[in-house]
Amino acid sequence: MSRSVPQMLEDWEPVIGLEVHVQLATRTKAFSPSAVHFGEPPNSLTDPLVLGMPGTLPVFNKLALELALKLGVATSSKIRARSRFARKQYFYPDLPKGYQISQYDEPLCEHGHLDVLVGTTVKRVRLTRIHLEEDAGKNTHVGAVSHVDLNRAGVPLVEVVSEPELSSAEEAAEFMRSLHRLVRWLEISEADMEKGQLRCDANVSVRLRGEDRLGQRTELKNINSFRFVQNAVEHEIARQLRIVDDGGRIERETRLWDADAGQSAPMRSKEEANDYRYFPDPDLPPLVVDGSTMGTILHALPELPLPRFERYQTAGIARDDARTLISDRAMADYFDAACLAHPAGHAGHGGRTIANWMLTELLGALNTDGKDIRESPMAAETLSALVVLVEDGTISGKIGKEIFAESYKTGEAPLAIIDRRDVRQISDEPALWEIIDNVVKASPKQAEAYAAGKDGLFGFFVGAVMKATNSRANPVMTTDLLKKRLGR
Ligand code: ADP
Ligand code: MG
Repeated sequence: MSRSVPQMLEDWEPVIGLEVHVQLATRTKAFSPSAVHFGEPPNSLTDPLVLGMPGTLPVFNKLALELALKLGVATSSKIRARSRFARKQYFYPDLPKGYQISQYDEPLCEHGHLDVLVGTTVKRVRLTRIHLEEDAGKNTHVGAVSHVDLNRAGVPLVEVVSEPELSSAEEAAEFMRSLHRLVRWLEISEADMEKGQLRCDANVSVRLRGEDRLGQRTELKNINSFRFVQNAVEHEIARQLRIVDDGGRIERETRLWDADAGQSAPMRSKEEANDYRYFPDPDLPPLVVDGSTMGTILHALPELPLPRFERYQTAGIARDDARTLISDRAMADYFDAACLAHPAGHAGHGGRTIANWMLTELLGALNTDGKDIRESPMAAETLSALVVLVEDGTISGKIGKEIFAESYKTGEAPLAIIDRRDVRQISDEPALWEIIDNVVKASPKQAEAYAAGKDGLFGFFVGAVMKATNSRANPVMTTDLLKKRLGR
């Protein structure tokens, strides 16, 4: 009977390194003019180069380079001024050329890092390299027949390779999330995982705590969702722990994650491992990154998600709210625009109140409509104006929600709706006193009972005042004046 996973984890430390493939958002393929598109009829997006016809020559897509450079710069990588394409050779039906164009010993980027948000802390994970390559085609197997679709072949990718320094399935999943957010933020990839635009291989090993040397690893292939990374790595850690804790040894192998079965199965062992016989591609000149290209990339680099996360927290935004705000660049931009329109800007109260309204009312409404923040019918400036009207007491928070709903629906300016509906808050003390006096006079029995100690009746009077004023009574003043009037 082996020990439980938590027990084994007291002695053993998991080590994970990820290799993530990200599809670059170009309109055409990496080395040839075919269009890049998802869901087209099989083999409709090919050309002589993709088909591996003799005599064809690759021409590298400059946009792919620029997109890869953005990621390199955003991860503080060292950019190689002259990198090289290499041929990675293997025989498979999805690769008509017989080799994949990739980068080997002279990759575009090295020694960068990715800041990963894990729970409440930021973990800096070093990146070994980021290199350019082309995708292969796709094989599908239907019964005894196999089909090859080359629409994906030749699509430009970057492969992001992490150092082996993630230490749990959760960290591995968060690494994927952070990278997903970053590439979308930089607009270098849509990173739609359902379309295979972001996918990873996870390398997993375990070692005794305190040990410097890495344990023998296995590699899990075919992971294309955050949940699968988490599940596959968790499952693999447990599998290895059971072996090593029983005194066994891990075999170096590649395993295929089967999401439906919730388990992995061996795909090939070390003995069957491919020898790719990499060599520099003689058809492609060195990839040169000149100063002016770098200058353009650096100049256009937006403020990154994690610095923004820190900035929001410094401005007093709660951690969870800040995390939601940076989940998407459009969301963060919306928030910044709303803050900019607010007289208090980001500092203190303004930002916090805007975040509250944005994350509850606006996201709630968008969610109901199945809309993205980019499709918000309410402009950031309008939300900001509404927040100001609540903050300065023109309307109550409760009325504010109604005004929000109407403005969201019709596009009418909050102030116009307020005036038309005549819902300005009553904050004039003598006027409010008169209303309260009438309300109390109208319910003498309740007033007596309250005076005699029946505290629960206070709410009855608040309700009556709100009813009498169509909810326009200033709630704070109402409480004060009611207490005064009721004598307790
Ligand atoms: P390849 O998979 O092509 O052999 P590498 O040996 O460079 O390439 O490793 C690829 C990935 O495996 C990297 O993300 C690296 O961090 C990770 N890795 C290497 N050794 C281990 C190990 N012992 N445990 C966990 N991850 C590892
Ligand atoms: Mg590998």
